[in-house]
Amino acid sequence: MEEKPRVLVSKCIEFAACRYNGQRITSHEVKALAPFVEFIPVCPEVAVGLGVPRDAVRLIDAEGKIRLIQSESGTDHTEAMEAFTASFLKELQSVDGCILKGRSPTCGIGSVKVYPSAGKVRQLYSKGTGLFGQAVLDTFPEIPVEDEGRLNNLRLREHFFTALFTLHRFNRLPVKMGALVDFHSNNKYLFMSYSQRLLKESGRITANHDSLEAAEVFSRYRRVLSEMFQSLPGIQNNVNVLQHLLGYVTKEITREERSYFLETLDQYRSLRLPLSAVTSLLRSWVIRFDTGYLARQTYFQPFPKELQRIFDSSTGRV
Ligand code: SF4
Repeated sequence: MEEKPRVLVSKCIEFAACRYNGQRITSHEVKALAPFVEFIPVCPEVAVGLGVPRDAVRLIDAEGKIRLIQSESGTDHTEAMEAFTASFLKELQSVDGCILKGRSPTCGIGSVKVYPSAGKVRQLYSKGTGLFGQAVLDTFPEIPVEDEGRLNNLRLREHFFTALFTLHRFNRLPVKMGALVDFHSNNKYLFMSYSQRLLKESGRITANHDSLEAAEVFSRYRRVLSEMFQSLPGIQNNVNVLQHLLGYVTKEITREERSYFLETLDQYRSLRLPLSAVTSLLRSWVIRFDTGYLARQTYFQPFPKELQRIFDSSTGRV
């Protein structure tokens, strides 16, 4: 059976009613991902002995040191959480991605309220990162990590799925130059949509003019791949890729088909259509004209098609 990507997930998202108020969070994306990944659910607050329900905890900025404190009683759980987090993450053998509960003082990344003290006081700022979330970011700097709220945004979601499944495919390759050459070739247009510079860099590494050992080549390639997925692909990058791909079929299609495609591309450029509307059109020609090289391009379907969804919440936390 094919190995699935391993995804660490906050347990209160779909898996257990373990939030401080005894609730569970629903997430369409976590449910949709279930058949395609191996989830590793964890609730760090329950793991350190906080019951359900419990008094909420909060982050406190104590002279520059972030602490995890129970809001009402002021009990400090920082050391317990740090100890659990260190041992839990050390035990994890491999992980390909992570979905964390946004705004949580434990799991949240970059959107957590930070206070000056326990009790009824105003927040200092709202861009903190929870103790567990920060440890995940520090321990696994090369994997995609997202909060569940941001996955309601179409571009962020597609980027997360793309990074997750592409890195997983790369990590499961046999460490042989032939496998890397095929991988690079099949991902060429996907990488072009992310970064021309990094596409060139990864191509240079694959060419291996210095005849390095395969393990060293893979290690360098992994670093570039990880850098590639630090940012979303640009709209104009996608337009360039699609114009480029059109060149492969332009002689086969009619003038009217071509101008309809360019019209659709323009609607994508001005954010009136999702990217999938343009790639689907192009892909139908790739199938019709049997252009083998293009048919293998992951650009058309970088993650399982069942995860494709054009839902885009403007209230998604971007
Ligand atoms: S956000 Fe994290 S710590 Fe809080 S309930 Fe969910 S899994 Fe547990």
